[in-house]
Amino acid sequence: MIILEDVYYKYDPEGIEALRGVSLQIREGEHLALIGPNGCGKTTLIRHLNALLLPASGKVTVGGCNTNDPTHQADIRSLVGMVFQNPDNQIVGVTVEEDVAFGPENLRLPTVEIKKRVTEALFRVGIPELAYRNIENLSGGEKRLVAIAGVLAVRPRYIALDEPAAFLDPDATKRVLDIIDKLHSEGVGIIHITHNMAEAALTQRIVVMNEGRVYLDGTPREIFGKAGMLQKIGMQLPQITELLIKLKESGFPVRTDIVNMEDALEQIRSLASKFKD
Ligand code: ATP
Repeated sequence: MIILEDVYYKYDPEGIEALRGVSLQIREGEHLALIGPNGCGKTTLIRHLNALLLPASGKVTVGGCNTNDPTHQADIRSLVGMVFQNPDNQIVGVTVEEDVAFGPENLRLPTVEIKKRVTEALFRVGIPELAYRNIENLSGGEKRLVAIAGVLAVRPRYIALDEPAAFLDPDATKRVLDIIDKLHSEGVGIIHITHNMAEAALTQRIVVMNEGRVYLDGTPREIFGKAGMLQKIGMQLPQITELLIKLKESGFPVRTDIVNMEDALEQIRSLASKFKD
């Protein structure tokens, strides 16, 4: 379990607070989407999960260890892997294999174990054939997968990803999202920052932040059922939810807390059958 208790943080002593009293519990194995307007504190929050940032006040505990305790920080970083928004910021090796080996090398594991973990991590993200390639020659999507493999080689229990599909084409996006789904099904806890509401709708839980605070927390259905509260802070809804709201506003008896295509089709089919004759 990751527990944040009343966490405050500011980057600059004279500046505004990026986090203003965030309390949150994240369970192992959960797939959580973190959404909210630009600058609301999403990246700042996930950087607190593995002690990259430490709270100015309040407390973050990961697996029972306080992130403020320097003797626990290495263990915490093994428990919570971080995939940054720009994979170039994460690259440390020349070849894919070297890069993915960096984490296990830092754990001072024997060479045989490091090789085993690198091979396993590359297979888990579906790119074993890239092992000896120079990272500079890879596509954006491939670099993102290398970054995820690098994190997996440490065998974390949670992975926090900052907009993992940003700037990727639809094929690469699908590949990355499928890997995230697979990791979740293998029991890895996923904390996933996104601006894409359809992506958020596929998770189990959505935490909406606004101005450094948790604004809403619930299942996708609960969150997108609160359209007014989301629109108030400038957030969009999944297109499918917007369509159903427009139908309802036009007088059709449909539910508007629908977030996926199958449920929406069901609503529309049942509506169509009423008007068939
Ligand atoms: P986005 O969706 O645009 O990525 P975000 O929700 O991730 O934004 P953060 O990046 O956590 O938000 O930023 C929260 C606040 O902290 C913003 O006001 C931002 O300008 C400020 N901030 C972020 N990083 C720094 C930094 N390195 N130095 C100073 N201020 C920063």
